[in-house]
Amino acid sequence: MTLLLATNNPHKKAEMNLICAPHTVRTPDDLGIDFHHEETGLTFSENSMGKARALAQLVFAEGSLGEETPIAVIADDSGICVDALDGAPGVYTARFGRDEFGRQPTQEEQNQLLLTRLQQASVRRAHYTCSMTALCADRSIITVEDYWFGTIAERLSSGGGGFGYDPLFIPDGMSATAADMTNQEKHAQSHRGKATRKLLAAIAAGL
Ligand code: IMP
Repeated sequence: MTLLLATNNPHKKAEMNLICAPHTVRTPDDLGIDFHHEETGLTFSENSMGKARALAQLVFAEGSLGEETPIAVIADDSGICVDALDGAPGVYTARFGRDEFGRQPTQEEQNQLLLTRLQQASVRRAHYTCSMTALCADRSIITVEDYWFGTIAERLSSGGGGFGYDPLFIPDGMSATAADMTNQEKHAQSHRGKATRKLLAAIAAGL
């Protein structure tokens, strides 16, 4: 089946292509659709639903994509929740540090900021959350959520895998960070891998 993923984030697209194989994952960019969505929700599920709805309105307008029409529009909203920061940055993960920097910080700046915030922390527990919503062509709606638990490392890993906060995230049961894992290892246990597999099973059950 063909799924249309509501994102402009190339890292998410690459991960979803691997996780969803052999299904086809397309993005608005692939179809020449100009898609931008302001994340105004207070929860991950509100945001994944908002993104999926906004894109579905564009693509399920009758016959708008012809044969390219996907079986479902899917959206992922995700982030990292740090216990010592009362769950922050959480739903605001993509914007973490904007107040301090007065602009959107780079991922390197965000990772350094997280390390600084945790300098005095004795507990470094954290988890990723991923909420995934599918709006299907038959108008059914499915939302699922999953998690990946671990701790925040004391320093950045030089591993080149993953993206975002992965060079700082040591999954439970591992001695290295998510950036030191292969793609297959990461997707087998990650928040996005688990949520996506649940979502695909639910979409397939409704076909
Ligand atoms: P959003 O879902 O577009 O709001 O962005 C979520 C942000 O959370 C990303 O920009 C990353 O910084 C972070 N994030 C989400 N999933 C992962 C992951 O699997 N690894 C590392 N960082 C992630």
